[in-house]
Amino acid sequence: MRVIAMLVVLAGWHGVAGAAGPIIGQPLPAWERGLLDIHQINTGTGNAALFIFPDGTTFLLDAGAVNRSQEREPRYDAPRRPDTSRRPGQTIARYVRRVHPAGPGGALDYAALTHFHGDHMGTLLPDSPRSANGAYQLTGITDVGDELQIRLLLDRDWPHYNFPAPSGGGMMLNYRAFLKWQTENRGLQVARFEAGRSDQIVLRRAPRDYPRFEIRQIAANGHVWTGSGTSARNRFPEGTVPVENNCSLAFRLTYGAFTYFNGGDMAGFLGPNAPAWAEMESAVAWVTGPVDVHALNHHGTPDAANAFFLSVLQPRIHILSTYASSQPGPEVMRRMLSERIYPGPREIFLTNGLWPGRREHMVKLYGETETVWLLERLAKTAATQGHVVVRVDPGGDRYQVIVIDDANETGNVLSVHGPYPSRGASKPATGG
Ligand SMILES: [Zn+2]
Repeated sequence: MRVIAMLVVLAGWHGVAGAAGPIIGQPLPAWERGLLDIHQINTGTGNAALFIFPDGTTFLLDAGAVNRSQEREPRYDAPRRPDTSRRPGQTIARYVRRVHPAGPGGALDYAALTHFHGDHMGTLLPDSPRSANGAYQLTGITDVGDELQIRLLLDRDWPHYNFPAPSGGGMMLNYRAFLKWQTENRGLQVARFEAGRSDQIVLRRAPRDYPRFEIRQIAANGHVWTGSGTSARNRFPEGTVPVENNCSLAFRLTYGAFTYFNGGDMAGFLGPNAPAWAEMESAVAWVTGPVDVHALNHHGTPDAANAFFLSVLQPRIHILSTYASSQPGPEVMRRMLSERIYPGPREIFLTNGLWPGRREHMVKLYGETETVWLLERLAKTAATQGHVVVRVDPGGDRYQVIVIDDANETGNVLSVHGPYPSRGASKPATGG
């Protein structure tokens, strides 16, 4: 009986017929129907995440390419991945082609920008080359959209781009030129991401096969879902000018018992005299509730991940898309690790954590003592370098976290973590 029970457990994990588990040193087995894959792609220059939904629908969130040429503190000094021979947007497009369910020619069903900063959409640089069609320059999302067809692109302020103030910078003008050319010549659709809705990003192939899948849009432009129907409430008082980060999109993805959150660069930890509305995380936490996995807000910069936010979300897995020596801040690390804020085990995965030359920049920002403490904690995290893939079992009862080598494009597995039971699973999915 015991042998049979073990076989059932193993068969359950492998789920779909013939599906293989990840093996260290070999390429990650391809996505299969029923799996939910979330790839935090690391270029060393900002945020990019590819979602492959259980029916094969694809969604790219952000395509960052931050300007590293400026001398500044904190330094945007994480190593470029895999190297400097290609632009970050090209690396992201190549990654998508490699893992796309429809093969290298597959289109992206959805793309979205959390907000309009270069580490999420691609900074326009003087040497950003012009696309072959001549209509725009290539960086970040325009690089990806030039190489891959995008069917629907969502952002926080289409079509006018005037909130909280008209945006006329070169990066936005280039982005809008890209949207114009792609809509007129390649069938791109663009829409405004609206808080409260759950019908803008949906399964495109077989929605009826996965009724327990949902993307609930929690926030955008300071509007936050009320938790009831599709209604949202505006947190920004009339006449105020919020910072770009707090206008970020936020959403909650649910697949059966599994839940994931992403809130872009919204802040939750402000100075003592900042107005309460300028802090987005607490309002967002109320309606998000507990999750299994989240992308830590604002790359773990010191204004992110307040104690209330963490105490409500209680994430088992923290994913940090880091690219600067300030990320994460030591107080953010303390809050992530604190079992007084919320109980239970948790694991931290960083796309970049420890790199040569980082230490001296950390000392300038945080001082010697805090730097030593933080480097010790970073060394004990689950991963400090690589693409971080969350692979959720068919049905959503459990998931693994798989770290993929980012030094080359082989897609080889560096480490495998879990399986972890999803928070909403009725009974522990592991055992035997
Ligand atoms: Zn950012």
